[in-house]
Amino acid sequence: MLKVAPILAFTDNYIWLISNPDNNEAWVVDPGDAQPVLDKLTSTGQELAGILITHHHPDHTGGIIKLLEHKKVPVYGPTNESIKGLTDSFRDGDQIEAAGHTLRVIEIPGHTLDHIAFVYDDADHPAVFCGDTLFAAGCGRIFEGTPEQMLNSLNKLASLPSETLVYCGHEYTLANLHFAREVSPDNQAIKDRLSKTVTKRRHTRPTIPTPLFIEANTNPFLQCEEESVKSSVEAQSGQTLASAVEVFAALREWKNNYVEP
Ligand SMILES: [Zn+2]
Repeated sequence: MLKVAPILAFTDNYIWLISNPDNNEAWVVDPGDAQPVLDKLTSTGQELAGILITHHHPDHTGGIIKLLEHKKVPVYGPTNESIKGLTDSFRDGDQIEAAGHTLRVIEIPGHTLDHIAFVYDDADHPAVFCGDTLFAAGCGRIFEGTPEQMLNSLNKLASLPSETLVYCGHEYTLANLHFAREVSPDNQAIKDRLSKTVTKRRHTRPTIPTPLFIEANTNPFLQCEEESVKSSVEAQSGQTLASAVEVFAALREWKNNYVEP
C-alpha cells in the first residue's frame, strides 16, 4: 500500500509525497515549487529520493532544479526535452521503481501531448497519479491535444479498477461539482458529494484522493455516453451531438466558459 501525503503549493496545486515504507526516503510527484517540498521533508524527517513528473507545465515542474541543487536524485517523466532536470523519459507500458514500489506508466495525451500517469497496480489498494487529466468531478483543459485524445485518455483512466485512488494535481473539486450539478441537476450522487465537499473545504481539508467509483457516478466528463448528460449539453449548446466525443467537446467548452452563479 502506498503511503501518500499532500503538499499544498501555490493556491490549489497538490505535490504528492510518496514515502518509502522501508526507510526514511520519499519521492515527490509534480513539484511545481521546491520550498514546500523541502519544508515537508524537514518536518517529517525524510530524505528526497526521486521526482516523478506527469507533464511539462511550470506549476508541475518549476521546483525541479532547486530540489536537484538540494540533492541529486532521479527525475522520471514523459518524453519532453523542455523539462529541465529530467533524467529519464518513459513511455506507455514502462515500469519504474519509486519509493520502494513498482509503478506503471501510461500515456494520457490531451491536456498536453506529453502527459503521462503513474499507476500503482496493487490488488488491494490501487492508485494513480494523473496530473491535470482526470480531476475530482472534472477534467483538465485541452491545451495541446484533441477532444478525442482527451476522452480516450479519460476512458483509459476510468477503466482502471474501480477502487483505484485518484491523485490529481489540483484542488478544483468544489467548483467542478457546482458545474456537475448544473449539467446533471437530477443526479443525487452529485448533490451528496457537493454537500460533503462544502464541509471539507470549509475546514480546508483536501478532497483528494477519491476512488474511481465515485468519479463514475459524479464526474460528467466520464458520463458522455449517458442520455441525460447528452441532452443537457445539447440544450446548452443548441447543437445535435452525434457521438460521445462531440458531447465531450461541447461539455468541455461549456465548462471553459462557465461562471459560477
Ligand atoms: Zn497542466
